[in-house]
Amino acid sequence: MKYTPSKRERSNPIEPPCRKEAYFTLEDAQDMIRHINETRVTKNIRAYRCDVCGFWHLTSRGKQEGA
Ligand SMILES: [Zn+2]
Repeated sequence: MKYTPSKRERSNPIEPPCRKEAYFTLEDAQDMIRHINETRVTKNIRAYRCDVCGFWHLTSRGKQEGA
């Protein structure tokens, strides 16, 4: 006989310690950047790999070059 677990059967997905949206791969992140670029006027979005969670995050922080 099997136990019939409640709906909580799903194992927890990995929860990144960061509150930012995390992407598993650079491709995923770049996909999102592409999407954002099509829908918003945001500059300098780039993906960076987070040392904390090891996933990819997006940042719209542009370097202030020159000036
Ligand atoms: Zn992170």
